[in-house]
Amino acid sequence: MSVPRSLICSAPVRLCCCRSLLLWLAFSLLALRVSAAPLPVTEVAPGVFVHQGEHLEFGDGYQGDIANIGFVIGEQAIAVIDSGGSRAVGSALREAIRERSSLPIRYVINTHVHSDHIFGNAAFQQDSPHFIGHERLPNAMRARAEDYESNLRRMLGDAAAGSRIVLPTRTVAGELVLDLGNRRLLLRAWSPAHTDHDLTVFDEKTATLWTGDLLFIDRAPSIDGDARGWLKVMDALAALPAARSIPGHGPVVADSKPALARQQRYVQVLIDDLRRGIAAGQPMQQVIASAAQSERAGWQLFETVNLRNAELLYPQLEWE
Ligand SMILES: [Zn+2]
Repeated sequence: MSVPRSLICSAPVRLCCCRSLLLWLAFSLLALRVSAAPLPVTEVAPGVFVHQGEHLEFGDGYQGDIANIGFVIGEQAIAVIDSGGSRAVGSALREAIRERSSLPIRYVINTHVHSDHIFGNAAFQQDSPHFIGHERLPNAMRARAEDYESNLRRMLGDAAAGSRIVLPTRTVAGELVLDLGNRRLLLRAWSPAHTDHDLTVFDEKTATLWTGDLLFIDRAPSIDGDARGWLKVMDALAALPAARSIPGHGPVVADSKPALARQQRYVQVLIDDLRRGIAAGQPMQQVIASAAQSERAGWQLFETVNLRNAELLYPQLEWE
C-alpha cells in the first residue's frame, strides 16, 4: 500500500504528527490482518448460537475447528461457551458475536481442558472476561500446557499464532449461576467422566443444555477420565429437563436420550469386552484390538478413538 502524498511531510515541526499518522496506518493494517472472517453460527434457540465443528482427527488436516463452540446473549452481557482450538478460531467466533451484539463479553466458559475447546480463549483476553471452568480445570491446564502448546504449533504452524493456555479466573465446585441480564446460566461441575473436570451449562430461558464432551454424537466418544463414572453421569444428564442439547461434537438434538443411550452402550461394551479378555487371560494386544469392535457401526473416527480408549482403560481394569 502506498502512502498518500498528503501524509508525507518534510518540516521537522510536523514530524510528530507524521509519525502518529504512520503509526495509525501501521496499526490499521495490523488490525486488518488479524481480524478474522466471522465463524458461521446457527441460532438454535433465541439468543443461543452454535458453531458446529468438523469431525476431524488431530493431525488429519486439523485446523483447530472440530468442536462445537458458541455463545449466549442476555440483555446485559454475553457468555462464550468453549472458544475453539486456536486463537484464530476464537477470533472468528468473536467476530460472529460482534456481528450480532456489542454487549460486553463477560464470561468465557470452558467445558473441559481438551485443546479443541480452549485455545480460542486468547482471542477474548482483550474483553477482560471472567474465564470460568471446573475447580480441577486449572491443574489440568497447567499439567498439559507445554505439550498442548507445542503440539498445536506442530499441527497448525503459522495458524497457531497467538494460541496459548489461558487459565480460569474463577472456578466452579458444585454449581454456579451467572446472570446475563434477564437470563440465567446454570453451571454444573461433574464428578470424573469424559475428563475429571467436566462442566455443563444450562440456559434456563430456553432450557438449552451445553454438555461439552459429556455427549458425543456421530463422532466416536473419547475417554480421558473415568469410564465407569461417565456411565453414571450419562444417567444424570438424561434426567435433566432440557428442551435441546448441544453436544461437544455433532448435531444439536431436541431429545438427547437416544444419543446418550447409544454412547452409554459403547462405553459399557468397551468395559465389558476388556474385562472379559483380561479374565480369560488373553494377550493384552489381542484384548485391546478386539474390544468394542461390535460397536463400530455409525461412529466416525471409530478406529483411532476406540483404540486410544481401550489402551487407556486396559491398565485401569486390569487392576480393579
Ligand atoms: Zn474432550
